[in-house]
Amino acid sequence: MVDSQLRKRGIRDARVLDAMLAIPREEFVPHDCRVCSYRDEPLQIGYGQTISQPYMIALMAELLELTGVETVLDVGGGSGYHAAVLGRLAARVVSIEIVPALARLAQSNLARTALDGNITVVRGDGSQGWPDAAPYAAISVAAAAPDIPEPLLAQLADPGRLVIPVGDQSDQVLRVIVKSEGVTRERFATSCRFVPLRGEGGFR
Ligand code: SAH
Repeated sequence: MVDSQLRKRGIRDARVLDAMLAIPREEFVPHDCRVCSYRDEPLQIGYGQTISQPYMIALMAELLELTGVETVLDVGGGSGYHAAVLGRLAARVVSIEIVPALARLAQSNLARTALDGNITVVRGDGSQGWPDAAPYAAISVAAAAPDIPEPLLAQLADPGRLVIPVGDQSDQVLRVIVKSEGVTRERFATSCRFVPLRGEGGFR
């Protein structure tokens, strides 16, 4: 996976490649789907939701330029896999999930794999961020939003980076917002396709 899906497509950050090698994706997918774990595609995790394609997770992690000291907000906890990758790259991760059963799934997957040491799973509407642990040096949103939710910009530290798919429910662009010295700029965009963000700042 790391060579054919990530390196070949331009993922260069050695820490990201290491994290993608280290985190056992098969532990986060449903039992009957374990053989598909490393396929080059998103996988169903129930409740109409998916774990993103490995490449997309690696790309989003690389765009956050994590060094290991950051507190990260992961919006859309799902299976907990993306949070586990971010947990390997940052000091602390708060992973927020709106569907109670999925928040429990993320929590139990992370505990079973003993990857929960620096990750807190919370249940709530991540389009409003999670003010209790703000500000965040990095925010990663794994569901498509119609616009960048204002609370996420407000909870982004300075310096800080936010990566989020923005668009309609079928097509989006992955946007990277970089906050530095009080100025907010946009750095990078590629087209992508995520499940819709729900809640106040989502498609409801
Ligand atoms: N990152 C996850 C999968 C993301 S799928 C993984 O590694 O498995 C998108 C997830 O976002 C789904 O679990 C969905 O329930 C969740 N979601 C959608 N809207 C949300 C919101 N407003 N707040 C928090 N989670 C949300």
